[in-house]
Amino acid sequence: MKKKINRMFVVIASLAILSTMLLITLVYYDLFRQQVMEDLRAYVVLFEGCGSENEIEQLGNRLEQYGMRITVVLEDGTVIYDNEADCGQMENHSDRPEIKQAFLEGEGQIVRRSDTLAKSTFYFAARLTENKVIRIAKDAGSIYSIFSKVIPSLIITFAVLIALSMILAHFLTGKLIRPIEQMAENLDVNNDTTDYEELTPFIEMIRKQHQDIVKNASMRQEFTANVSHELKTPLTSISGYAELIETGMASEKDVIRFAAGIRNSANRLLTLINDTIRLSQLDGGEDDMVFERLNMYELASECVDALAMSAKKHEVSISLAGVECYIEGDKQMMEELLYNLCDNAIRYNNVGGKVEVKVEYEKSVQPGGEQPHVVLTVRDTGIGIPKEHQERIFERFYRVDKSRSKSTGGTGLGLAIVKHIVAKHNAKIQIVSEEGKGTEITVIL
Ligand code: ADP
Repeated sequence: MKKKINRMFVVIASLAILSTMLLITLVYYDLFRQQVMEDLRAYVVLFEGCGSENEIEQLGNRLEQYGMRITVVLEDGTVIYDNEADCGQMENHSDRPEIKQAFLEGEGQIVRRSDTLAKSTFYFAARLTENKVIRIAKDAGSIYSIFSKVIPSLIITFAVLIALSMILAHFLTGKLIRPIEQMAENLDVNNDTTDYEELTPFIEMIRKQHQDIVKNASMRQEFTANVSHELKTPLTSISGYAELIETGMASEKDVIRFAAGIRNSANRLLTLINDTIRLSQLDGGEDDMVFERLNMYELASECVDALAMSAKKHEVSISLAGVECYIEGDKQMMEELLYNLCDNAIRYNNVGGKVEVKVEYEKSVQPGGEQPHVVLTVRDTGIGIPKEHQERIFERFYRVDKSRSKSTGGTGLGLAIVKHIVAKHNAKIQIVSEEGKGTEITVIL
């Protein structure tokens, strides 16, 4: 980028210098032409003072030695005097533009290229009397000769100016690029001010992407650390129980208890691994999603039936209300979503508590007409979630009461999975909860 800007600066500077030089030469030549014409006009004044043809001829002959050609022409174009040629031999001059102009306007002038490129002839004509025009001509340098004379100094000036503009371009480019380099160096610092207003959206986008990358990396790191930690606990107890059995320290009665412990820990491991795999699948693309028409009431009913035993074990009643509602969704994901929400409502409930599942249509007015939404509500009369935790419970491994979660077989991943499923179905999830009173989670599909 630096090189490109540098090159552009130099090209622009070269073009500017060249065109300025050309313009100056043209202006200078025009001034030079005007000056020559002024000089010729001054000589005409001398002729105007001549009283007779004789005096004109005498003056004309004198001026010949100064390289000036004097011609006197009558109105019909006949040349009656020329200090360099025999006027009898000369052709009619009525068609000469400077002569014509002089008869018409009093004065006429023209510059004609002479035989060589280096010289031009400057003609100035003026009316002496009603029917007589005097023309004075003089050879002077042409524009080419003037230009070729100044070429060496032009080249030197050009080279010096280009060298200067290259140095300047180098510094200017550095100055232009510096804010961008600084921004790249300080991508982590949330510095809102930038020297270039136009770059603000671009910088914001890059900064956001950068923050996302950093956030994702740290989330992944945290997740790996959490998974390792969660795997370690059941594996340690499995290893401990096995060691006790192996060393013969456990009585026959204990062996049964320890075996149950091993099975529990193994089940915990299995659930954890399954949830981790599921989360990583959901983290990926949508390729594995199969959208179909689903009866949410039917799915909720199956879920309530499947969890009836668990509810009984926790001494919690579970019920379903609502009507048959249809959505387009992935069956497996919807089952998982229902299961996780209902399972939580049972596990974080109190003895004698209630879980109410409801599936219904709720109409909300959209700009393009009425769009019915399917609303799934899972309400419990359980322990509730304190306000400060409500936003975080959808994070991986975030648990309000770790020991309760673990003792009831939780992994801390259930709501993270729910959040993914909700996002993949373009749905919304809302939570209303009060500590000690209960929780209501609503999914709007
Ligand atoms: P877990 O496997 O621990 O249940 P989840 O991701 O399903 O993990 O839930 C995260 C945390 O949110 C739980 O540990 C619990 O503290 C809290 N939570 C979830 N659902 C409820 C609920 N219905 N009532 C009270 N707390 C809940």
